[in-house]
Amino acid sequence: MKVRRFLKKAVFFALIGFISFALVASHGMTRHKLMANIQNQQNCLMTYSLGKNGELTQRCTSIPQTVSPTPSTQITPNLNLSEKERFLALITNKLPTIPAPNTYEYILLRAYGSAFLNQKPEIKLPPKVVFNNEQETKQFQSTLTMGKVKGTSNCYLQKSAADALNIAKSQVQIPFKSGYGASDCTRNFATNLRFWQKYANNNTLEQVRQGKETKILGLVAPPGASQHLWGLAVDLRVSNEAQKQALNQNGWYRTVEYDVLHWTYVGLAPEKLAEFGFQNKVVEGINYWVTPL
Ligand SMILES: [Zn+2]
Repeated sequence: MKVRRFLKKAVFFALIGFISFALVASHGMTRHKLMANIQNQQNCLMTYSLGKNGELTQRCTSIPQTVSPTPSTQITPNLNLSEKERFLALITNKLPTIPAPNTYEYILLRAYGSAFLNQKPEIKLPPKVVFNNEQETKQFQSTLTMGKVKGTSNCYLQKSAADALNIAKSQVQIPFKSGYGASDCTRNFATNLRFWQKYANNNTLEQVRQGKETKILGLVAPPGASQHLWGLAVDLRVSNEAQKQALNQNGWYRTVEYDVLHWTYVGLAPEKLAEFGFQNKVVEGINYWVTPL
């Protein structure tokens, strides 16, 4: 008796299990089929016709694909905004956190933020305006595609920046600050720090942080804040108009006030600078394109 009852129970549960499985499977298939149909309808025009035996047949006629415009990477600045608002709006999608006014980071953005207006999609910008150490710097630099400046053995810049500088240098001779490249181009954190310690100290840094000292920023960048860490700056000895024009025409500008030797790869044509919020400033007879902050 007990065995028969057990067998009955086992058969009952097996049956329930099978039914549930069949239901789930068929539901899955229905769903799958439905998805396929929707997919189909997106790509073709369904026509239905009644066959000889009264059965409904459906036919899919493919719809000619309309050419959708390729997404434009060209950014059009909103000219209704002030230069400052325009600058901040343009860098919003480049810098994850826009520094608050009166902070150290804001001071650095004002001094070196011009590079954030570079619109070239292949150019990479740092995730913050100041790196804390060599490791952070290296981590960012490892993501860059670099190119070598012709006629040098060790002057590297982000590839588009190097290409643009090579074109300018093929048009007119432009010597490096040091005469041979190397630290005139992309630097590591240690070199940035060494240069800083040559001209400044912790006290100077504190003054900069408090907004009491700004002129030093045109002589040397605080540790971790140099555009040279980004592969977008080069120090050159420019002494005539032809050199300046060749650089400008290829997207290179003086962007750091008082730093006559320092050139930044902005990648914009000269006539576009004002549109993107750059401010033209003439200091001691030298033309700079600075941030509007
Ligand atoms: Zn420099």
